[in-house]
Amino acid sequence: MQLTDQFGREIRYLRLSVTDRCNLRCFYCMPEEGIHFLPKDQLLSYEEMIRLCGIFTSMGVDKIRITGGEPFVRKDLIGFIGSLADNKQIKKLSLTTNGILTRPYLSQLKACRIQQINLSLDSLDAQNFHKITRRDEFDNVMSTFHQMLDEGFAIKINAVVMPGINDHEIVPLAELAMNYPVSVRFIEEMPFNGTGSVHAGIKWDHVRILAKLKSRFPDISPVPAAPNSTSQNYTFYKAMGDVGIIAAFSRTFCGTCDRIRITSTGEMRTCLYGHNVLDLKALLRQGERDEVIRDSIVRVVQKRARDGFEAEKLRGTNNPIGESMSVIGG
Ligand code: SAM
Ligand code: SF4
Repeated sequence: MQLTDQFGREIRYLRLSVTDRCNLRCFYCMPEEGIHFLPKDQLLSYEEMIRLCGIFTSMGVDKIRITGGEPFVRKDLIGFIGSLADNKQIKKLSLTTNGILTRPYLSQLKACRIQQINLSLDSLDAQNFHKITRRDEFDNVMSTFHQMLDEGFAIKINAVVMPGINDHEIVPLAELAMNYPVSVRFIEEMPFNGTGSVHAGIKWDHVRILAKLKSRFPDISPVPAAPNSTSQNYTFYKAMGDVGIIAAFSRTFCGTCDRIRITSTGEMRTCLYGHNVLDLKALLRQGERDEVIRDSIVRVVQKRARDGFEAEKLRGTNNPIGESMSVIGG
């Protein structure tokens, strides 16, 4: 079967958060203090995740991204990815990481069919990196970046654009794509920062980011992307890689969205901006059969919001966005 929502969008892509914990404190993602990490028994076990991924791949999902929190903070991540890789219905297995603990595992990741890695890197300046992430790990992350290049991974650099913080680094970050075969993706900042603070709007939306790139690379031109891609990609003269802009707050790509998420606590989300729609962990722990879980998934996918604006509205006024991206999975 192919899982499809009521608007005819096929669901093929699962983002799976394996932990809410992290070894950075990126200020756009979580506050510095006062975070309550969840006890282990509230997280899905690896066995539960493998079973859920099997259920989803039996419903047509063929692309899975492992995310978090920081995935490598969870013990024996490689063992888990190895088991997941045994599921041959997964055509594309990928990972998003901050690169701090990643380096020693790169060759094993290759052996687990991971070809592509998203590395979060919001600054090319050690001090600014520290200001954003509140940790002194810049050199470590850059070493990971270079080793990923040496090992031949397809690399996407994720950079959240923040006014007055790293907007002066848009061009230097884009120049990474000039000098290396990487895709540098600029992400609009979203309100998932774990503070509940109201996010009135953003200063750096996709239009302004593109204008900035055009001012430095006048020949910048769009590259065709897959219809369900979240990023609009561009190339420019002599670039070894490309740049992309992800209108994550403007939500320009919802019409073709093929993604669902499982949070670290085993809740399913059919839209990042929506609320949790199905407690998969509860179903597993009640001992439900795969068929029952599949039926429940079909039901919530049939009620999926048309786009992120509708999903946000459906949360209601008592449940404004404010949770950390580390819990949902980026
Ligand atoms: N810890 C890993 C990392 O940072 O790559 C994986 C999890 S992190 C939540 C996944 C992605 O979400 C990162 O690239 C991060 O930049 C992005 N992200 C987190 N909070 C965000 C926010 N408020 N707005 C936009 N992107 C955000
Ligand atoms: Fe951690 Fe990733 Fe969130 Fe930064 S963006 S605090 S690295 S989970």
